[in-house]
Amino acid sequence: MTQSFTNELSFAKQMDKEDPLAKFKQSFYFPQHNGEDVIYFCGNSLGLQPKAVRDAIDVELNSWKELAIGGYMKGTNPWLYYQQYLNKPLSQIMGCLEEEVTVMNALTVNLHLFLLSFYKPQGKRNKIIMEAGAFPSDQYAIETIVKQYGLSPDQIIVEIAPQQGDKILHTKDIISTIEKTGDELSLVLLGGINYYTGQLFDIKNITTATHDVGAIAGFDLAHVAGNVPMQLHEWKVDFAVWCSYKYLNGGPGAVGGAFVHQTHANNIDTPRLGGWWGNEESTRFKMEKGFIPKPTAAGWNLSTAQVFNTVCLKASLEMFDAAGIRAIRTKSVLLTNYLEFLLKDITDLNFEIITPANSEERGAQLCLYFIERGKEVHQKMHEAGIVVDYREPGVIRVAPAPLYCSFEDVHRFYMIMKNLKA
Ligand SMILES: *Cc1c(COP(=O)(O)O)cnc(C)c1O
Repeated sequence: MTQSFTNELSFAKQMDKEDPLAKFKQSFYFPQHNGEDVIYFCGNSLGLQPKAVRDAIDVELNSWKELAIGGYMKGTNPWLYYQQYLNKPLSQIMGCLEEEVTVMNALTVNLHLFLLSFYKPQGKRNKIIMEAGAFPSDQYAIETIVKQYGLSPDQIIVEIAPQQGDKILHTKDIISTIEKTGDELSLVLLGGINYYTGQLFDIKNITTATHDVGAIAGFDLAHVAGNVPMQLHEWKVDFAVWCSYKYLNGGPGAVGGAFVHQTHANNIDTPRLGGWWGNEESTRFKMEKGFIPKPTAAGWNLSTAQVFNTVCLKASLEMFDAAGIRAIRTKSVLLTNYLEFLLKDITDLNFEIITPANSEERGAQLCLYFIERGKEVHQKMHEAGIVVDYREPGVIRVAPAPLYCSFEDVHRFYMIMKNLKA
């Protein structure tokens, strides 16, 4: 990073003036604190509401009101194809073919569906590598699928933990664990960005190493989608799942996203649970015996498109399309580096940034680890109109999402924090 920052407010204002994405901030609603917008650095948990969603919902309400069943074919956005409207923008964000992506259900459900398709323990090839301290839902999904096969989680799951005194994992340690597990390895499942440390894994090289030993590489991209651009197709990732309510601003409980590589998606013999919505459209309404999956990621769809669970995401993705995921990432790197620069100037509070310092190993989020009084600091931030979240033990996660956070927001955050005495 050659950018040189200064800690004056005028610098932040100048950065905002030069920011080509600055205009998007006005397209979101901010919660209020003492009559002012809060500083919202919590887009890693729930993205803000795009102002466009109300009209988008109204369009679908009107189709329902005026056309009822006709909405499936004759609505403004015929519901029969509703999921497909998101394929293009999502394929840009995830770096894949349109046929490799779909929206359905929610993240954990989709993870289970893909585990059923891709975790096939056979003889000694039955091990699953995951990160120690993975998001609980990932841990529970793996634990319960392993038990479904009558296997013991303790013997199957290989957890990779940071080395003594370290908080993050090194790619070489992940790869050496993959190599060591070798022909016993069935599946690698990692969070693309670890939710607790903010570390972005080297998905490309981890996938290659996994394939080299003949195993499957899957990723939980909850903290990646809309944050860091991916190249899932080119990297040959086997499958990935993500939620749409974090950086993608799809609203609470929005429909989940799913990627299946073309090589698996095109093969209608890839095992899966079937439902009528994943069946070929030409025969779907014949209601006949015999499931013929679509030769795309949509071949995993089970139920009727969840229009009202998808409409906000659809509206939000139009903004991602307009801004471009590359431009979003460029701003994000700058914004987070600027935050890091300012945080290093704060000496009165006892904390450490545990997120990797290299911007290629992180997304928007920095995790501040407080050896003590993290909760108290979090409470004081809250009282000062800052929305950030706290995760045990002792971590405050600070995530300036680039579509709606400004350099001035980061500066305000810095000034408030500088004046906090723990
Ligand atoms: C947020 C998050 C989830 C949430 O899963 P849901 O099924 O949407 O509740 C799962 N995994 C990770 C890593 C997350 O960060």
